[in-house]
Amino acid sequence: MSRRRDFLRTSAAVTAAAAGAVAGIAGPADAHGDGQPPKDTGHRGRRYVIRGGAVMSMDPDVGDFERADVLIEGKRIVAVRPDIRAADAGVIDARGRIVMPGFIDTHHHLFETAERAFLANGLLRDDGSGSPSAHPNYSEHILEGFARVYRTQDVYINELFAGLSQLDAGVTTVLDVSQVHHSPEHTDAAVQALIDTGRRAAFGYFEGDGRIGARYPEDAHRIRDKWFPSDDQLVTMVMGGELHLGREVYTRAWAIARELGLRIAAHSVGSWGMRPVFDAVARGDGGVEVGPDNLFIHMTGMSDETWQRFRDAGAHVSLAFPIEMTMRHGTPPILKMQELGLEPSLSSDVETTMTADPFTQMRTAMTMQRMIVNQLVLDQGTPVPPDNWPTPAPGTPDLLTVRDVLRYATVNGAKHLGLDGRTGTLTPGKEADIVLLDATALNVAPLNNVPGAVVSLMDRTNVETVIVAGQVRKWRGRLLDADLNRLRRDLEASRDHLFKAMRLPQNLFA
Ligand SMILES: [Zn+2]
Repeated sequence: MSRRRDFLRTSAAVTAAAAGAVAGIAGPADAHGDGQPPKDTGHRGRRYVIRGGAVMSMDPDVGDFERADVLIEGKRIVAVRPDIRAADAGVIDARGRIVMPGFIDTHHHLFETAERAFLANGLLRDDGSGSPSAHPNYSEHILEGFARVYRTQDVYINELFAGLSQLDAGVTTVLDVSQVHHSPEHTDAAVQALIDTGRRAAFGYFEGDGRIGARYPEDAHRIRDKWFPSDDQLVTMVMGGELHLGREVYTRAWAIARELGLRIAAHSVGSWGMRPVFDAVARGDGGVEVGPDNLFIHMTGMSDETWQRFRDAGAHVSLAFPIEMTMRHGTPPILKMQELGLEPSLSSDVETTMTADPFTQMRTAMTMQRMIVNQLVLDQGTPVPPDNWPTPAPGTPDLLTVRDVLRYATVNGAKHLGLDGRTGTLTPGKEADIVLLDATALNVAPLNNVPGAVVSLMDRTNVETVIVAGQVRKWRGRLLDADLNRLRRDLEASRDHLFKAMRLPQNLFA
């Protein structure tokens, strides 16, 4: 625990749990036989083979295999093909399993775990309706409420718990978008939690509440020096560059990002009132230039001109289909993206309102798009035979397929975070971020279609083994190196503090 920080001493429980999380692969020293993962996975020179699975590489040049092996050495994939001979290597038996890249989430507010399902009905803002969806709402209760009463230990346990939960669900890479950078100590707690989680993450340095002592965006220099001296780490850095913070702030943030070589992420939500500033920036009147280092989140309600200019500039877009649909961001702009030849990555966004597993993201993306396109086609005819089943007119958008949403949830995420040289596909030379999904399970067997089974049938219970940079982090259904009971108690204590500080009653049936 070379990077242990003083703030951790404020909670002995947190410290002990964190030490466990970074202790490396546990288990008996000689653990190598049945029932245990190969020894010292992820360590330099250590080799093992994932043998006999249905391999979906997500790399067209590597392809798919009904049955193949994946050889890993240290943190990298060495080979993907049938019948690999490696006498000295450990073995993970993957028969009956789907072997594919870990999922990538390009926008998740990890800090909000203590408020899970608090806004199960909630909208972004109060719409004056007096309905249960208007109050409580995201603007008043989360951003202007809970977020402001987070202590450093709250940031730490919320982010760690969210990260472990997603790791358990097969999400091996995340962009953390946590707007709790109220002080350098809050920031350090967030980064420490991402490191202690033991998965790949892009730490998004977004704003805090602007209190005295907050140093956004200039603190990016310190953060980069202290935590991210090399670009070769499991946790990397992205700059938050929200346009709604006003020109004076965002121009500084974007300039610092480019000086430091960081990508820039920003929310773009028409219903939040952001369209005018996006139009100005797209026109070149915003004092910043959009480029391929930009990741825009949501892009609901944006003008055609802004879309066109962002596409031409090579900017990327992350969509949070279920959240956009339920919280009134606007219709997820997937048809606009198809029209422009763009593809999104996927965001889980906020667990105040929706679970953060990748299966929910993929299925929602696919069903939402197909609902719209299917109705477009039906509307060419009438509900009355013989016009009840029209042939799609020329120009009708293609229906999304399971392959499409799998690409969104893996390789597109890697590209949008600038990590596609390291993860997103099972490609020799890349780091081994891999999930083994149980295709023999009650909800999946018999296996007839690998991409179809993953998207149509699976859920987090099928995520059996999870590997990050060669290291086994979940083994046969159990997360390794995490005392989850203890961490849950820490999270509950944090939740209790936060509700008390908000003067909100805890009502389990509200
Ligand atoms: Zn967000």
